[in-house]
Amino acid sequence: MIEATHLDKFYGDFHALKDINLSVHQGEKMVVCGPSGSGKSTLIRCFNGLEFHNSGTLVIDGIEVHENAKEIRQLRQNVGMVFQQFNLFPHLTVLENLTIGPMKVRGLSTSDAEATARKYLDRVHIPEQADKYPSALSGGQQQRVAIARSLCMETKIMLFDEPTSALDPEMINEVLDVMAELVDTGMTMVVVTHEMGFARKVADTMVFMEEGRIIETSPPEQFFTNPSSERCRMFLDQIL
Ligand code: ATP
Ligand code: MG
Repeated sequence: MIEATHLDKFYGDFHALKDINLSVHQGEKMVVCGPSGSGKSTLIRCFNGLEFHNSGTLVIDGIEVHENAKEIRQLRQNVGMVFQQFNLFPHLTVLENLTIGPMKVRGLSTSDAEATARKYLDRVHIPEQADKYPSALSGGQQQRVAIARSLCMETKIMLFDEPTSALDPEMINEVLDVMAELVDTGMTMVVVTHEMGFARKVADTMVFMEEGRIIETSPPEQFFTNPSSERCRMFLDQIL
């Protein structure tokens, strides 16, 4: 589903991703963690064409990704992303936030788009918020709208970039619970998060990054009990 081979990425002179090798299989849940500035966002932004690698190869759902690939629009439609700062349209209602993408991009009729939107608002447990504006919702509710919006695009791959780190502590679990429910739908998920309880519960694979490199890739049992690198161990000691 996602196959990265010897990926390097520079911002000007700054070497942000260094020789990244990684594969995510269909239906796999991967959790990526690591210190601030280690390249986690850069990595997953390469997976939906928000950033581009400079060398190496990246194949996503059969499409080879590079800056000039004619399939970039298609890639962005095939790979959903949920951001730390929900990025909802403030001037549109919840329902409108959910229908605009499917109508414009997938060509759904208004009634089909609304039916899809209501289905996914149910899925994130806020069907009653459909006609409100984002500013009238709590942070946790706004993030669940953002997840529903991504679900409305019915992508096979969903990327999450620290989806709970902008939330008040009491709202974190309602978002993590919704994400955990998605795990059973067979969707391929790559989640950048430091919520290690969530990671332990849902991850098939844990990835630890530092200074642009992947330092550790292992199943959660091993990752949390016996990480092979000292740096990963120290990081876990700090956050657990
Ligand atoms: P955080 O946990 O703080 O979100 P991160 O692991 O997601 O960090 P990135 O945002 O991927 O880290 O950034 C990796 C490095 O690349 C950082 O040193 C950052 O300053 C740099 N960087 C990120 N985006 C850009 C950019 N657009 N231009 C220049 N440098 C950038
Ligand atoms: Mg980041």
